Amino acid sequence: MAVRKEGKRMNIPLLDLKAQYLLIKEEIDNAVLGVLDSCRFILGPEVKTLEDDIAAYCGTKHAIAVANGTDALVLALQACKIGPGDEVITSPFTFFASAETIANVGATPVFVDIDPLTLNLDVNKLEEKITSRTKAIIPVHIFGQMVDMDKVMDLAGKYKLKIIEDAAQAIGAEYKGRKAGSIGDAGTFSFFPTKNLGCYGDGGMVITNDDAVADKIRMLRFHGCKSKYYHDEIGHNSRLDEIQAAILRVKFKYLDKWNQTRREKAENYDKLLAPLAQQGKLTLPVKDPDGVPVYHLYVLRSDEREKIAIALDEKGIACGIYYPLPLHMQNAFAYLGYNLGDLPIAEEACTQALAIPCYPELTSEQQEDIAQVILNALA
Ligand SMILES: *Cc1c(COP(=O)(O)O)cnc(C)c1O
Repeated sequence: MAVRKEGKRMNIPLLDLKAQYLLIKEEIDNAVLGVLDSCRFILGPEVKTLEDDIAAYCGTKHAIAVANGTDALVLALQACKIGPGDEVITSPFTFFASAETIANVGATPVFVDIDPLTLNLDVNKLEEKITSRTKAIIPVHIFGQMVDMDKVMDLAGKYKLKIIEDAAQAIGAEYKGRKAGSIGDAGTFSFFPTKNLGCYGDGGMVITNDDAVADKIRMLRFHGCKSKYYHDEIGHNSRLDEIQAAILRVKFKYLDKWNQTRREKAENYDKLLAPLAQQGKLTLPVKDPDGVPVYHLYVLRSDEREKIAIALDEKGIACGIYYPLPLHMQNAFAYLGYNLGDLPIAEEACTQALAIPCYPELTSEQQEDIAQVILNALA
């Protein structure tokens, strides 16, 4: 495509994994080569150390590494004994896996609308959806900001529900001084490459303070077996491999710094885009005063999303729609019988939300350029 006359194409991706790799290349390469040299590839010392380090960081007794964030949810649900006949409440405004996994274990997803400010589950609408069949809630800490967990845990106590935090986008985020994933019966992480702590393939983890849940997940990830070739249950093959664990151990050292930098980038956007917010032309991400978010994504909302997206694209700046279709409107969940209009806040968010680049390696100059394109587009 020809470069437009009026302006340079900036080529800014939504996330720059290459720039990140180049900063830590030597450490990563050595870590990978170390595993190759050891020829220990499955459930070895790298996985064990990563589990210990992340459990300590999150303040939980246990961390169990698994094959991906989706499996982390499936295994956590199974370990909490959720299955056929049970209902599990979650958000309609999240990645598909948050609800897919409820169906994977034979249970029924029940969607509750989201809070118009934070876009997280509206905790004030939870109670009216609780029935005698409700067994669990999966609060999803969307875009790296935690759900109002006090209200969720109150309901859990009142109705004897299991709480599984989907913290795939929120490793390192806090709510009243407690880490994402550490408050419910179990919390799950994804190490998909684009997550705040991402490996170079698939990976995931469950954290928990519950000894029985931890034992069960350790068993389930390894064919339902405690001692080799003796199987107590039908399980899975769902393990993190040593190469991925070694990569994650290198990147984990930088997680707090990278999350802090993401917060600084977000604050910078808040300032740069404030004029448009004041004019009511767009809505900036709303920060819950009880939490410390990690900005997995910086998501704007605007009725003129299309205009912004086209203007950014013309300058070679990537942006992304998270999420274009709420889960209750997905074909795969047609059998649940929801209609358009049932969860209006989530439906509206899907027409307005637009993520713009917000990653640690993004420069202030790039941010200013991006903001200027948006300011011009909505002028
Ligand atoms: C990424 C993600 C998952 C799934 O993780 P995978 O590692 O891709 O299986 C689940 N829930 C949410 C909210 C996610 O963003």
